[in-house]
Amino acid sequence: MTEASDREVIWAHSGDSHFLEPKDLWRQILPPSQADRMPRSERVGDDEIIQVDGQSFRRRMPKIFTKKGADGLTISELSFRPPGSRDAKARLGDLDQEGVWGEVVYASLGLWSSMIKDPELVREASRAENEWIASEIQGADPNRLVPAAQLSLLSVEDAVTELEHARAVGLHAANLPTGVPAGVDDYHRDTWDPLWSAAEETGMVLCFHIGTDGNDQASLYSGPGGAVMNYVETTFSGQRVALKLVTSGALDRHPRLKVLISEGGASWVPFLGDRMNEGYRQHGMFVRPKLSRSPKEILYDQIYTSFQHDASAIGAMTSEGYQNLMWGSDYPHLEGTFGHTQETLHELFDPVDEATRYRITQGAFLDLFPHVGPVPASVS
Ligand code: MN
Repeated sequence: MTEASDREVIWAHSGDSHFLEPKDLWRQILPPSQADRMPRSERVGDDEIIQVDGQSFRRRMPKIFTKKGADGLTISELSFRPPGSRDAKARLGDLDQEGVWGEVVYASLGLWSSMIKDPELVREASRAENEWIASEIQGADPNRLVPAAQLSLLSVEDAVTELEHARAVGLHAANLPTGVPAGVDDYHRDTWDPLWSAAEETGMVLCFHIGTDGNDQASLYSGPGGAVMNYVETTFSGQRVALKLVTSGALDRHPRLKVLISEGGASWVPFLGDRMNEGYRQHGMFVRPKLSRSPKEILYDQIYTSFQHDASAIGAMTSEGYQNLMWGSDYPHLEGTFGHTQETLHELFDPVDEATRYRITQGAFLDLFPHVGPVPASVS
C-alpha cells in the first residue's frame, strides 16, 4: 500500500464547512441591548449551554477533537477545534494542508438565530452579521471562501431585503434553516415566492444545512441506539426541504433557482425522486399544483447535495444519473474529515473514473459558485 505522503493530493471544493464566530461578535457589531440577546455558547464541564434571547438548552460536546494518523491509530493531539475554525487566515492554512480549495461556509452560533422571536432583532442582527462575514470571512480570500448569509425567517419582506443586501455586499449564498420557526408558513407555501424570485434574480444560492429545524434534533432520542438515531434523524430534515420545494412547485416556478442541501448525503436523491414520481402519477387526481416537469427531473436539476464519507453517494451519480452532488469536509466538526481528508478522498475516488471524480470534487460546486473556479494548476 502506498504511504499517504507519496500519494497524489486530491483537491476538492467543499459544499459543507463552518466557522465559529468570535465570542464577542455580537458586542462588536450590535448595540449591547441587542447583542446580549443573541445566541451564545458556554462550556460547562462536558456540556455546551446555548442561550438565545431568554431561551437556553444544554447539549453534550465532544471533549477532544481526534484525528486518524497515517498508521490508522487515533491521535488525540488536537485541542477541541482545529486552528482555523475561528480565524479565517489560519483557516486557509488548514484547507491547504487538507487539500480543500473552495468551500461553502456556514455560521455556527448564527444558526441558532432562528430561535429568536423578535423580528426587529433578527432583521438587524442578520444585516450586521452579513456585513461582518462578507468582510471578515469572505474577505480573507474571496476566491475560496463562500460564506452563507443569514436571513430573517420571521418576515418574507425582511428576508428578501436582506438577501438583496447580502448580494450587494458581495455574498453568493444564503442560509435557510431546514425548519421554519413556529407560527411561520412552511416552505411549500406560496408565501415564500418573493424570496424564491429574489434568489433566482440575484443568483444567490439557497443553502440548507441538515439538522437546523430550530429544535435540538441532536438529542431527540435516548436509550439503546440513541446516538446513531439522533445522528441519522438530523439527515431527514434536508430531505423534507427538497420534498417541499419540489412538490409545491416552488422550484418549477423558479427554474433558475439552485438549492444546496449540505451534509445530508446524496443517495437519497434518486429514491426521493422515484417516490415523488410515483405519488405524482398514482395519486394524480389529488395532485396540485401540476408541474411542468416530473418531480424527479426538478429534483435532479435544481437540488444539489453534499456528503463527506458515504461511498453510496457516488452510486447516485454512476448508477442513477444524479449529477448535482458534491463532496463536503464539514470542517471543523467531529463528523467531518479534518485530519483525514486525503484518506477519505482517496477511499472515495480512487475506484471511480476521472470525470466522476471531477464532477463531485469540483464540477457541481462550480455550477453554483463559478467565481471560485477550478483548483488552480499551481497547487493541484
Ligand atoms: Mn456541516
